[in-house]
Amino acid sequence: MPEPPRAIRRAAAESRSVIESGARQRKSDVVKQLEQLDAKIRACIRCPLHQSRTLAVPGEGKANAKVMIIGEAPGRSEDQTGRPFVGNSGKFLDQVLAGTGFERSDFFITNIVKCRPPSNRTPRTSEIETCTSLYLFNQISLINPKLIVLLGLVAVKKLLGFRTVEAARGRIIEHDGQKFLATYHPAVRFYREELAEKIEEDFAILKEEMKKL
Ligand code: SF4
Repeated sequence: MPEPPRAIRRAAAESRSVIESGARQRKSDVVKQLEQLDAKIRACIRCPLHQSRTLAVPGEGKANAKVMIIGEAPGRSEDQTGRPFVGNSGKFLDQVLAGTGFERSDFFITNIVKCRPPSNRTPRTSEIETCTSLYLFNQISLINPKLIVLLGLVAVKKLLGFRTVEAARGRIIEHDGQKFLATYHPAVRFYREELAEKIEEDFAILKEEMKKL
């Protein structure tokens, strides 16, 4: 094939560098906006959960993650450290994530509500509505993931409208133009051991799906 004229090669190189710098620009804008959200979450007093928290837990991971993981709420260890999924549930999550062949840092991990409910009670509807409308939906639109993994009923109900995890799990679901994979919350392992196996099955689906992303 004949070589393209020099002017065309130069134009192609210039347009490539514009796209690359555009992509860098977008990424740094996203990082900046995520950091601004992070600061707002840490100082937030918009629902009663702020009264009992030690630290709010905005979430962490890659700003351009292909996969976002959304749990229910911070627990005791998360409340103490300000980081998501670092307690016993987090250890199990790390274990199943390792099975996908990706690092934890390849994902963006967060929760439906960002502050620990007293005694780990289920977050109330008003708390969920306030927190997701202020923060989670903004995080999703900034990160723009190709797939969202939902851990537990609170996340499954809020983002997919299913009434049980069992009805939603075990397959990729497309909803409003977004792909989801639902499974049980890793904490379930400590009171219903048999469900741990189902979580592992669902993360095997994640592993296969990640090959296509
Ligand atoms: S749970 Fe969300 S809305 Fe409520 S205080 Fe914490 S960050 Fe604010």
